[in-house]
Amino acid sequence: MNAIEIVAETCPECGAPLVHALDCWGQLGAMIAWEWQDPELMAQHFLTIASYNLQHPAQFTAEALAGLREQFIDHLDNGVPIQEIRRRVSSLAEGNTKVLIPAADRHPVLHHWPMSIADVYLPDQPAAAADRVKAWAASIRTELRRG
Ligand SMILES: [Zn+2]
Repeated sequence: MNAIEIVAETCPECGAPLVHALDCWGQLGAMIAWEWQDPELMAQHFLTIASYNLQHPAQFTAEALAGLREQFIDHLDNGVPIQEIRRRVSSLAEGNTKVLIPAADRHPVLHHWPMSIADVYLPDQPAAAADRVKAWAASIRTELRRG
């Protein structure tokens, strides 16, 4: 056993391990930073954010989560373009829909996913990140189908 205390080695909600000392939120930030040099990854921005959020549902209201799931599925299954998804999401925001629940009322539950952001954010392999995002989203889609 190491004498150094290690705090939160894995995310209590998505189960992602630390990658280069970054937790899953930090890994998401690093992915977003990659988008600026990677137009293919930038094009998958919606799937990156939606996949991350769907693996961290505790922060969202039931309505917001249902809406997110619906847009995610509509995009993957029916090919609804990102521009249309964006339009729908912004019209929801105009309706002043409450998206987040207060931090004290969040109860994260660990779910074991086939892929987490730690499988997508590979620090030494930025090249195929867009393909990994698509695989990540597809794996989440399969889990959602299971219910
Ligand atoms: Zn997480």
